[in-house]
Amino acid sequence: MANAFAAASAACWSALRSDVHGELFARGSPMTHVDLLRWPLIGPLLRWRHARTSLQLVLLLAAIVVVLHGLFGQQVASDNLSTVLVWVHYRGLLVVALLAAGNFFCAGCPFVRVRDWGRRAHAPSRHWPAVLRGKGISIALFVAVLFCYELFDLWALPRATGYLVLTYFAAALVIDLVFKGATFCKHICPIGQFTFIASVMSPLELRVRSQATCTSCRTSDCIRGRYSPEEPRQMVQRGCELGLYLPAKIGNIDCTFCLDCVQACPHDNVALTTRLPALELVDPRRRSGIGRLVDRPDLAILSILFVFGAMMNALGMIAPVRFMERWLASVIGSTSEFLVLGAMFVLILLAVPCVLLGTTAAIGRWFVGDTTESIRTVVKRYAFGLVPLGVGMWAAHYGFHLLTGLIVVVPVTQSAVIDMMGWPALGEPMWGWAGMRPGNVLPIQLGLVLLGTLGSLAVMSLISQRDHPDRAARATAPWAITTCALTAAAIWILFQPMDMRGLGFGG
Ligand code: SF4
Ligand code: SF4
Repeated sequence: MANAFAAASAACWSALRSDVHGELFARGSPMTHVDLLRWPLIGPLLRWRHARTSLQLVLLLAAIVVVLHGLFGQQVASDNLSTVLVWVHYRGLLVVALLAAGNFFCAGCPFVRVRDWGRRAHAPSRHWPAVLRGKGISIALFVAVLFCYELFDLWALPRATGYLVLTYFAAALVIDLVFKGATFCKHICPIGQFTFIASVMSPLELRVRSQATCTSCRTSDCIRGRYSPEEPRQMVQRGCELGLYLPAKIGNIDCTFCLDCVQACPHDNVALTTRLPALELVDPRRRSGIGRLVDRPDLAILSILFVFGAMMNALGMIAPVRFMERWLASVIGSTSEFLVLGAMFVLILLAVPCVLLGTTAAIGRWFVGDTTESIRTVVKRYAFGLVPLGVGMWAAHYGFHLLTGLIVVVPVTQSAVIDMMGWPALGEPMWGWAGMRPGNVLPIQLGLVLLGTLGSLAVMSLISQRDHPDRAARATAPWAITTCALTAAAIWILFQPMDMRGLGFGG
């Protein structure tokens, strides 16, 4: 069985290395000839100069509604647009967009719209300090947001949700009015890091059409921006604010799908192509703005947190977590919610990954008979293989809330209109409208987790083919077992009774 799997992955790896275009991983070679920017209707719409601004304005309007109803509406989570739109619809639709297309929620980010307006009044002049570059700050904020979400039960607090959104606007504005480029997106934003990691599973990617055109290009407008021929100091179209140079760009990490590169390239040389999701996790080449994945411990840590964070976030909504809290309270000798939750975070986001992945790496080294690499290096390489499973778990969790509360936005909006206007301008709230029954969503959740598992097994196997071509099955075996163990834990969570904590959609 293991041999058959290894033979299949070896064949797959060799097929991936050389397709009809030559080296598949050769920089800039298109994996497919599909280019959405050349499709009728969709192409012109995406290339329209104001497409991004239009999307941002729609999401800005939604954010204004979230803030106003959160701050001034009735403070019942299931009746407030703030909690419903943020914790049910935004999170769910974000994952749907990532899996169906790409990172279009970053493209439409309303924080960036407000930041751009702010920059008209005050242009930033500083560069983000080199010592702060990378994902360190955003990783800390990612954990902090998960922690505060659980500690304060944010899904149950419309006013706090409104303030959280306002805080986001303020942080993006302050950071990006001081520092140039997309500093907030690249180095600070926890949502951005979530979408960057999840977007490795997206079926779309921006890449150059012809490497030869880039080689002869003298301006590199895709990253520098385009300047007015009359006034050479005046930029008429900005280039990639995330520092991704298109000929050397690989994959979706750090790409906000803003399409500035499409607008800036004077040779119309940027395509929005289809691709095999997750394959970029195996790509060993140096990529623009990121370097080699295997040389980025911060991205490996972010990937691990992404996976175990999904577990933690899902655990928070099931009833058995109360037993765990009581056990931890007795171990640390305190019933303080802050301390107990902190202990749970240390256990699930630090201790379990260290022990589980460290042990897996040690066994893997022993299996392949190569102890020259440190355990940390092995974990760093295989951590990226867990991402598809993590995406499956997040999709199962957020998909549950989205599908069970999909149309609850209708009666909540009707109720909000009554709050604001004093009379039922949109009719009496149809409180019977909600969404699918939880039992009907379970098969979809199981399917998402199992698809993620298959993706992780495939990526792990390809990583082994890449790094240990003659002992790939042995190298993969312990990681496959760990992946299956995590899958079993995720499925166990899905089957647990929900602890709704007083809400119709909590968690
Ligand atoms: S501006 Fe266009 S042609 Fe020039 S390097 Fe960038 S993508 Fe290539
Ligand atoms: S490569 Fe840069 S400019 Fe192009 S869509 Fe991605 S983030 Fe935007």
